[in-house]
Amino acid sequence: MEIFDCVIVGAGPAGLNASLVLGRARRNVALIDNGTNRNRVTQLSHGFVTRDGIKPEEFKDIALEELKNYPSVQFFQETVTQIQKRSDQTLFQVRTQDEKLYIAEKIILAAGLTEVHPSVPDLKTFYGKSIFSCPYCDGWELRDQPLIVVAEQEKGVHHMAKLVYNWSRDLVVATNGNQISAHLKNELEYRNIVVVTEPIKKLHGEDGYLQAVEFASELKMKRIGGFIVPEFHRPNSFAEQLGCEFKEKGVMVMDGLGRTTQKNVYSAGEFSQVSPSALILAAADGSNAAFAVNADITNERF
Ligand SMILES: Cc1cc2nc3c(=O)[nH]c(=O)nc-3n(C[C@H](O)[C@H](O)[C@H](O)COP(=O)(O)OP(=O)(O)OC[C@H]3O[C@@H](n4cnc5c(N)ncnc54)[C@H](O)[C@@H]3O)c2cc1C
Repeated sequence: MEIFDCVIVGAGPAGLNASLVLGRARRNVALIDNGTNRNRVTQLSHGFVTRDGIKPEEFKDIALEELKNYPSVQFFQETVTQIQKRSDQTLFQVRTQDEKLYIAEKIILAAGLTEVHPSVPDLKTFYGKSIFSCPYCDGWELRDQPLIVVAEQEKGVHHMAKLVYNWSRDLVVATNGNQISAHLKNELEYRNIVVVTEPIKKLHGEDGYLQAVEFASELKMKRIGGFIVPEFHRPNSFAEQLGCEFKEKGVMVMDGLGRTTQKNVYSAGEFSQVSPSALILAAADGSNAAFAVNADITNERF
């Protein structure tokens, strides 16, 4: 059975860039991905120089095409279900949903994050088209428009409202049935931001493009887009199963070069740390982890 220098779980920008660097360093790589990247719902991605306004699927296609220049990198469309140390304790065994096995010396975990959204009916229809979670990614397109910020916790309300205010001052903040402190409410209202604490009953619009937001009392407000504050979770417990250590709030303990606290286990992109989230940061992180993998292999084998 082929022994890979490295199995990379996840072909988002982190895993793709890690593959590119390792391919160019002549390492055997299995890059495994199941197409569940959280940005797949969005129409266009912004803020990656030379790629501003690119479709997420086009970004991935270009990257996979470039990887074909490096035959030691193989791409597999599969779902990884388990990663464990083999009994010899030197190699890892990666199992997929189809019961395929990949054996590797090193692992890069680059499986991204999943999101839990505020419980607003039909939000999925609008998410990625006119409602987003990152103003740096999509604020420009919504500048100066009547917007809504949906955030259910005090901290999220404060953070997102303050940020989005930079792109539009025509703002409604909806807490979707949750209370916020009088202090925060006053702070927002002082800036003419309307605060609505009743639950959202319905989002009105066409083809994912928001036109109005209706609240439980049937109050209806014209809004053409907005931002939500999701909760973020790692999509699996591979890092825990492999014994990686965590700091508070689930942040992985890393050495700044993608090395986790477990020998031969590396991590890159949002999988290691929720924020800040951007394609270019994840790609850079993947590059960093690949340098660490290659440096370690070089030192071990020279
Ligand atoms: C709606 C939306 C819009 C966004 N817009 C922008 C933007 O305009 N600009 C920008 O810079 N950023 C944007 N982002 C953020 C950006 O998508 C992330 O920062 C970036 O994709 C993180 O890269 P990553 O490689 O860490 O993870 P991801 O891109 O999420 O990649 C992780 C990969 O791992 C794979 N995976 C997960 N589990 C498994 C498994 N068990 N087996 C196999 N494969 C697995 C997934 O299929 C996925 O492809 C947006 C995000 C969202 C949700």
